[in-house]
Amino acid sequence: MYYPDHHVHCNFSPDSQTPPEAQIERAIELGMPAICFTDHMDYDYPEEANITFDLKPEIYLPAMRILKEEFADRIDVRIGMEIGLETCYQDKILSYIASAPWDFVIGSIHLSDRKDPYLPSYFAGRTSEEAYRRYFESALECLQTFPPAYDIFGHLDYVFRCGDRSITNAWKAWPDLIDEILRQIIHQGLGLDVNTGGMKNGLPMQHPHDDVLRRYRELGGELITLGSDAHKTIHLGDRFPEVGEKLKALGFKYAAAYKGRKPEFYKL
Ligand SMILES: [Zn+2]
Ligand SMILES: [Zn+2]
Repeated sequence: MYYPDHHVHCNFSPDSQTPPEAQIERAIELGMPAICFTDHMDYDYPEEANITFDLKPEIYLPAMRILKEEFADRIDVRIGMEIGLETCYQDKILSYIASAPWDFVIGSIHLSDRKDPYLPSYFAGRTSEEAYRRYFESALECLQTFPPAYDIFGHLDYVFRCGDRSITNAWKAWPDLIDEILRQIIHQGLGLDVNTGGMKNGLPMQHPHDDVLRRYRELGGELITLGSDAHKTIHLGDRFPEVGEKLKALGFKYAAAYKGRKPEFYKL
C-alpha cells in the first residue's frame, strides 16, 4: 500500500493550478487507498504577498463530494482543509473550522507577526537565528492560545523552507522551546504533519527534522499523518516510502488517516 497522502492542494487553493481530478488520478496510479485534500484558508493575507486564500466551504465541499462519489470504487477521497493559525484571528478561525463537516483539519503557521517567511521582508532587520526562532515562538503562542479545534499541527518547521537555511534542526537550536511546543501538541491530543513538501525545493529533510520527530516520540508523541503538500501531481506522495522507513526507524509504528475528524491507524 502506498501511504494515503494527507496534505494535498488543488486549484481550490490559489497557489495551485492542479484540478482535483488530476491529484486523485495520480493517487490511484500510486496505489493510495485514500487521499485527503487540505486546501488553504488563511485570513487576511498581507498585501505584500499579493494572494488571497479564501476557501469557501459552500463551493468546495459540494464540488469535492461529486468527485468523492465519482471515484468511490477506486479510492476514498476525503475532504479536509489547512487553516493558517494566528492568535489575532482566533475567533474567526474557530468559527470557520466549526462551520463545515471536514474529514480533517490541519492547523499551520504561515505567518508570524503578520509576516510571510516566503518574503525577504520577514528576515529584514534581524539575524536568521532571530527570524527563525520567532516563527517557533509564534507557533507556541498559537498552541497556548487556541483550543485543540484542529487535528494536526502542519509542517512544524516550515520556516526552514525559506531564508538561508543556516539552521534546519530546530531541536538542536532551541531545545526548550521545541520541547514546550511538542508537549503542548501531545497534551492537547494533536498530532504532527510529517510533511515532505520542502524536499522538492532542495530542503534536505521532511518537516519536521528527524531530531524533532525523535524528541516527539521520547516525550510520548505517537500521532502523525503523512503529507506531501503537493500543489502539482508530480509531488503527490513524494518520498513516502523512504520517509515511512525513517519513521519506523525512529520508533513510529502507525500513522493516521482521518475521516469525519477521527483518526484511523494504518501500519507503517
Ligand atoms: Zn502550509
Ligand atoms: Zn499545505
